[in-house]
Amino acid sequence: MELKEALARLAELQRKMYAYQAASSSLYLDGTTVAPKDTAEGRGVALGVLAGERHKLFSAPEVGELLDFLWERRDGLDHPVRRQVEELRRSYGQLTRIPADEYMEYAVLTNQASDVWHRAKEASDFQLFRPVLEKLVAFNIKFAGYYDSSKAPYDALLNEYERGVDMAYLDSFFATLRERIVPLLHAVMEQEPPDDSFLRRRYPVEGQRRFSDYLMEVLGLDRAHCAIGETEHPYTLEFNNKDVRITTHYHEDNMDFSMYSVIHEGGHAKYELGIADELQYTCLAGGVSMGVHESQSRFYENLIGRSLPFIQAIFPKMQEFFPGQLADVTAEQFYRAVNKAQPSLIRTEADELTYCLHVMVRYEIEKQLIGGTLAVKDVPGTWNRLYKEYLGVDVPDDRRGCLQDSHWSGGSFGYFPSYALGSAYGAQMLRNMERDMDVWGPVSRGDLSGVSAWLGEKIHRYGGLMEPADVVKNACGQFDPTVFADYLEKKYSQLYAL
Ligand code: ZN
Repeated sequence: MELKEALARLAELQRKMYAYQAASSSLYLDGTTVAPKDTAEGRGVALGVLAGERHKLFSAPEVGELLDFLWERRDGLDHPVRRQVEELRRSYGQLTRIPADEYMEYAVLTNQASDVWHRAKEASDFQLFRPVLEKLVAFNIKFAGYYDSSKAPYDALLNEYERGVDMAYLDSFFATLRERIVPLLHAVMEQEPPDDSFLRRRYPVEGQRRFSDYLMEVLGLDRAHCAIGETEHPYTLEFNNKDVRITTHYHEDNMDFSMYSVIHEGGHAKYELGIADELQYTCLAGGVSMGVHESQSRFYENLIGRSLPFIQAIFPKMQEFFPGQLADVTAEQFYRAVNKAQPSLIRTEADELTYCLHVMVRYEIEKQLIGGTLAVKDVPGTWNRLYKEYLGVDVPDDRRGCLQDSHWSGGSFGYFPSYALGSAYGAQMLRNMERDMDVWGPVSRGDLSGVSAWLGEKIHRYGGLMEPADVVKNACGQFDPTVFADYLEKKYSQLYAL
């Protein structure tokens, strides 16, 4: 085989994988936004076929030969191509180590698990979900060995979401945060809570839709390349850097839910839209890791979106969208309301201060489950005990306890820490950004172009071209979780006059 031919085959392989992904994504997007209620069956059939074909395409022995051929010639390859071969070889090795029958069995299980979890959550009945969760845990322990048998199982799983991160790293990261956040939270709770009752007034969906359009404009999202849809649980879906979709959900009595969903998902979208053209339709298109992706969404949501300068900038416009609801409210009051800190039960509704404590509960449980020191039957008890210990709240039922998140039902163990890491990366990015430029002058005028340009330059354009740890280093310097703790301390001390 000539090198030229091999490179052409490599490009063709990646375009085909992109096409399967794009087709599956279209079906998923349709199913979660506009498709009629009882139409899931046919999409399920199509998705199953597409997943099977994609697996067949990528796990073929010829692919392994092609990748080996190119890897042997890696010194003569352009950097992006070399990285593609490196990444694809890693994925190929992992995939082909999983026996085909186990792979298929697992695909059926996760499909079924999502349905069982939905029903168990609705009925608030952990026993319903328990047998499925037991199987999911057993599979993941086994798969961890296929991913990297030299690592402890949970380390191997963590590595899948944030390469280079392991339990030793996270133990120290979370310990640092806990030491700082818990006393801060206690001090906050002794203060008078801000009034946030005006957020619960009735905000008609039509007004909220127009407000979403405005927010996307402020974020600098080009509507010719980024659309917004409505769904149950907001998410972002990327096809390529010219076509990204975000979603939101409108609650008439909870206006900040959609507001911060749009800004959060908008942050994910900015990342995907900012990836270089030359990486499109290759395995390097797309954000580099879950943690870095969350750093971008949470940067826009919290560091910018929940800052006083940003709220002051957009508040006059908000009062135009919602005159009956916000006429008697000031920007300062709004700022305090959307930063109200209080221990709660639900992770996705948690404030910036307590959010990481929710993640820590899940981390402790996953670590023990995958490490084999916690039985699935003891998950609810452990969950409730840790919520009491970390957040001081009593969990009334499993629906608002260990059944609240979808992650485990999808087979994701090791994902949760990415949320906390993303928050911490973001705080350090902000510190570096502030050293490089005037962040808050333009933001206070509603101009986010400088912020976008900085993130685009340091993070977005690279996609998967660098290792996640190198992207973090490029934007944050040496990672140091105390920067995030300092940020929280400063913000909440000011908010609560501590
Ligand atoms: Zn997110």
